[in-house]
Amino acid sequence: MCTFFYDGLVIPVEPGPLPSPGPKPWPFEPRPEPLPKPILPKPILPKPKSPFIRLRPRRPAPMFPDRFPGKSTPIYDVRVGHKGKPRACVTVTLSADWDGHDLRDENVGAIEHFAAWRQQHGVPMTHFVCPSYFSNGQNVAQNANQIRRGMIPGDEVAIHVHGWRSLLQQAGVLQVASFWSGSPVNNYQTPAYANAWADIGHDNPITHYTRQEITQIINRSRALLQGAGFNVSSSFRSGAWVAHRELLRGVRNAGCILDASGVPPAMTEPLNGLFTAMALNPHPLALWANNITPNSQPHVLNPIGVNLRELPCHYSLADYNTQQGIEGRMQWALGQIQHAQLDQTVYLHFGFHPETAVTLRLYQPNQPAGTVLANIPMNHLAKLEGALQTWRASGAIWGQLQFVTVEDAVQIFVP
Ligand SMILES: [Zn+2]
Repeated sequence: MCTFFYDGLVIPVEPGPLPSPGPKPWPFEPRPEPLPKPILPKPILPKPKSPFIRLRPRRPAPMFPDRFPGKSTPIYDVRVGHKGKPRACVTVTLSADWDGHDLRDENVGAIEHFAAWRQQHGVPMTHFVCPSYFSNGQNVAQNANQIRRGMIPGDEVAIHVHGWRSLLQQAGVLQVASFWSGSPVNNYQTPAYANAWADIGHDNPITHYTRQEITQIINRSRALLQGAGFNVSSSFRSGAWVAHRELLRGVRNAGCILDASGVPPAMTEPLNGLFTAMALNPHPLALWANNITPNSQPHVLNPIGVNLRELPCHYSLADYNTQQGIEGRMQWALGQIQHAQLDQTVYLHFGFHPETAVTLRLYQPNQPAGTVLANIPMNHLAKLEGALQTWRASGAIWGQLQFVTVEDAVQIFVP
């Protein structure tokens, strides 16, 4: 069942029989006088909302600031049309959600390979990194180096927060619950989901915390990432996309200016059903259910009382979709710009999880760190790579795409 194609799916419809032609008019019958056209008042229609956003003047070069101190800063040519002239294009952002689960060579190697391809073709990416890699007691430099293997100069490093115990402890916040199990884990002793480092809390939705606690967690997260040597942007994505107003206010109070957590909840369901566990607590995505569709464009969250820019994760991540689904979304976007003004663009986002890029390793809770429960083949990154290669192979498609990081996309769409 491909229910996840609900948005982009074109259902082929067999043409029915043609309506039988009626009796031919008698040739000598006089034609009736045409009735005078009634003069109707001109209907006042609401102005259709354009899906397009005009390209705005860009910041001066370098478009992509160097996020790797000590390395050179190549400046990518972000194509604003042929030879610098504006033209309609699809603005694509790619992201990786480093969840704090583990950093195995198998996955990191695949991401490194992808990074080489991205560098070759000038495709930057935003890395949403959970700082628990640097709070879990492991070697900070070693873990940072593993993550850096998947990055190229010009990539963005942003904050991604799952409620891992070690991170919350460092932020001075207590861990409260688990939405995978639906059970409280106040005592830190009943992990529903462990990682390689015997930390717990991947499944702890941070919607449980107050605005002040969220601010503390994000401030601590930023400090941990900076301590690991990363230049951190002011973009944010919450673990499992959970959000409510208080959380977003906390995000804003912690100095972030854009959120990239908005997701249509249905897009997280299709392939593996993992998120059926969220039925236990449907609340964390309720905000998005009313605000984000697979076609949503970057917008300001002011109407809900939060002064943040929202860059939707509107096609979820590769984990929950197929390569055909990803390519279908691009067809939608290309269709959108087909008749657009020359200086217009439409936004599209794709992403994946490093921890499921090739395989997901499950660890045994309450066992020595790293005790393996199961290895599950995933190969989600391959779907995104496959789609990118399809587009690269087509000059017609590739020429209509511009790849930017999330923080640069906000400058284009909602500065
Ligand atoms: Zn995550």
